[in-house]
Amino acid sequence: MITNLEQLWKDALVDIELNTSKANFATWFQNTIPSHEKNGILFLGVPNTFVKEWLSTKYHQPILKAIHNLTPVIKNIEYIICSPTQINNKPQQVVIQETQPEKEEQLEFKELYIDKEANLNPKYKFDSFIVGSFNEVAYAASLAVTKNIGTVYNPLFIYGGVGLGKTHLLQSVGNKIKQENPQIKVRYITSEKFANDYVSSIQSGSIQSFKDKYRQYNVLIIDDIQFFSNKLKIQEEFFHIFNSLYENNQQIIFSSDKSPKHIIGLEERLRSRFEGGMMIDITKPDFETRLAILKDKVEKSGYIIDYKIIEYVASAIQENIRELVGALNTIIAQYKLRNRTLSLSEIQEILKKNIKPTKNININSVIEVIADFYGIEKKILFEKTRRKEIVKPRQIAMYILREDLNTSYPCIGNKFGQKDHTTVIYAYKKIKELREKDSKINQEIEQIKSTLYEQDA
Ligand code: ADP
Ligand code: MG
Repeated sequence: MITNLEQLWKDALVDIELNTSKANFATWFQNTIPSHEKNGILFLGVPNTFVKEWLSTKYHQPILKAIHNLTPVIKNIEYIICSPTQINNKPQQVVIQETQPEKEEQLEFKELYIDKEANLNPKYKFDSFIVGSFNEVAYAASLAVTKNIGTVYNPLFIYGGVGLGKTHLLQSVGNKIKQENPQIKVRYITSEKFANDYVSSIQSGSIQSFKDKYRQYNVLIIDDIQFFSNKLKIQEEFFHIFNSLYENNQQIIFSSDKSPKHIIGLEERLRSRFEGGMMIDITKPDFETRLAILKDKVEKSGYIIDYKIIEYVASAIQENIRELVGALNTIIAQYKLRNRTLSLSEIQEILKKNIKPTKNININSVIEVIADFYGIEKKILFEKTRRKEIVKPRQIAMYILREDLNTSYPCIGNKFGQKDHTTVIYAYKKIKELREKDSKINQEIEQIKSTLYEQDA
């Protein structure tokens, strides 16, 4: 007999929290409460079906283990939805505010939302930024900057592909600093706007006030710095502004869609300034984080969307968080329009154009592209050799077949003449790990993939 279920659950949560990332813990475990216990089964109250499915499929074992460690009396857990009224009370109040800015490459915000002086959009907060392994370093460094302005990571340079959360992160830094230190002068600007500002100051003969303006900030945030590529005059002007701010220990933060090394037409002295600070890349989001992002947005929308649909969207859209959120907004817009929920096949039809045509890529095209990329003959990839220059491409082939085509391990093993498929599992895990540690391999794989998908289009 357990007397205090609440305490038991609290204690279990401490254990679970230790073994779960912060974002995931917040996403899946907040608002869970123990309801009652019967015949060794703990009935755990959760806020909605989505959390129910997720906890019961992905977290059941860790939960059970945490509880079991505390009391052997509990043999199983059942998940029940506790407060459906909460959700049902706010059915159609959704305004799909995000659809518009999401479509634009470079976010330009409506005057109304902006803190004019800092040029920050208050919708971008750390609170709404979901963290996974692909962005946790960028997240941690950004947060550190808000606590140590101009001193720890200066400049902070965050780079990564389109729609991966760079603007969100940069603006969150600005918003948090402003919120905690209203006296600090923060300025967020895209490099394109900066360039325009510069040009118009020349045209209007007010170059001096342009120079003065940018030298007075305590925190200067420049988004999408790759736009400076080949614009030497602007780079020169910016170089002096950078130095002036830097020497005075003012914080400078950049984002870019590529690393400084890969920005073409970037002056060496500027490149070395960028590289002299903290450079962090954001890579593509993993499945679990994509799901967490969607779940968060669904909850905020007040709509109830079937778990299978969310999972489908998270598995179909892998490259870009903006597209991921955009797809969800499309679904919500359709719910509104039709005033009913939609089936999975209807959703698949609607999202067809958002989703990369992975189906036309097959084993042969993967092998062909990889052989071509490494300059080896296709048939050598299948030979049983331990030569290093063959082993790596072969493992990468196995990895891509699994990751992108969802091919089963035994089927891949078969194709490569392996009697048992543990070699394939090993290859998959190894490459997956290497991608995180070894940026050269990661880049090779990115390149292979982009060739693969380009050929298909
Ligand atoms: P980038 O500047 O890298 O192109 P954005 O910051 O504009 O990307 O992000 C695109 C969209 O995805 C925005 O609506 C943003 O709020 C959302 N987004 C990106 N990353 C995350 C995240 N980790 N958690 C929640 N939302 C995110
Ligand atoms: Mg951006």
